[in-house]
Amino acid sequence: MSAARFEVLVPPPADGSTRARLGRLELPHGVIDTPQFMPVGTNATVKALHPDEVEAAGASIILANTYHLYLRPGHERIRDLGGLHAFMGWDRPILTDSGGYQVVSLGDLRVIDDDGATFKSHIDGSVHRFTPEHSIAVQEALGADVAVAFDQPVFPSSPRAVVEDAMERTHRWAERSLAAHTRTDQALFGIVQGGLDPGLRERSARFIAGLPFDGINIGGLAGDETPEERNATLDATIPLLDGDPRPRYLMGLGSPLDLLEAVHRGVDLFDSVLPARVARNGQLWIPGGRLNLRNERFRDDPAPVQEGCPCPLCTRFSRAYLSHLFRARELLAYRLATCHNLTFTLDFMARIRVALRAGTFPVEMPELRSRAVRMSGGEVAVKRA
Ligand SMILES: [Zn+2]
Repeated sequence: MSAARFEVLVPPPADGSTRARLGRLELPHGVIDTPQFMPVGTNATVKALHPDEVEAAGASIILANTYHLYLRPGHERIRDLGGLHAFMGWDRPILTDSGGYQVVSLGDLRVIDDDGATFKSHIDGSVHRFTPEHSIAVQEALGADVAVAFDQPVFPSSPRAVVEDAMERTHRWAERSLAAHTRTDQALFGIVQGGLDPGLRERSARFIAGLPFDGINIGGLAGDETPEERNATLDATIPLLDGDPRPRYLMGLGSPLDLLEAVHRGVDLFDSVLPARVARNGQLWIPGGRLNLRNERFRDDPAPVQEGCPCPLCTRFSRAYLSHLFRARELLAYRLATCHNLTFTLDFMARIRVALRAGTFPVEMPELRSRAVRMSGGEVAVKRA
């Protein structure tokens, strides 16, 4: 019996206007409506927020980073303290990544061979080694609802030979990750690689989908590719998974436009630090676009950041107050701004799900897209958006 049960509630329409679908993913610590966005809690905390605020923002699952928690405070310490859920005070679903992305993106600090990757800690320079078996052991000790197979991501723009070599290694590591995984109360997802090459993507999708994983990650994107290259890669990959009963997860996407385009192409799950990171820099997302709260004009603006937003920032404070907090580098600024951007992002996903449930997603796509494009463009010109 698998620890993950996924059900497609509304499949894509037969007319081919979209591959977007509405789903429901049942995990040991709760149920997730898909398409869904996972806020990132790198160090077992979504930066600046109390878990109750993460939940109030609309999050039903968060991601925690295996690499960071392995180094500090240590997976065995977390296991001995009752596992990640108890340790961080979050009793809803958690997904841990494999550590592959952090380990292999350390550049000069790491060496990869067929057995695994040796790397130096970014904290103290100490030497460590991750193999598929060790990544799984660390993730089993952390005890998230979903673990992920150890992989070797490469930049999408890497030469084909490099991409192919990493893909083949990822396939061997996928089999070893599966063989090493023993926890029956934890799901395990596998990762498709293959860069921007449709042929490699096809080989990888068929290989990974042929293994008994609980979900299919689409890796190696959200890197240095253009949106057009990413969309083309998704269009070459997702149709191969038609009829596959498992959830699809694109790692590392977080802007509303990127999320929308990937949902449209059939992706169910996402994670990214982006909404929280830009919030801490004073960039607030609203339906009209984005506001830079460090801009002079907000110092006298009594309006809330977003009229009608239910978040702790907008229900109580003005743009002028938040602007002041950022200028004074007060800690409350980071907390309130993060609450808002996560609320906005998770609400955007909820709107997509409402449209999918109603069967109006293809019709609403232009409006959703123009709303999302405004977030990626310049700052809002009007004072009240
Ligand atoms: Zn708000």
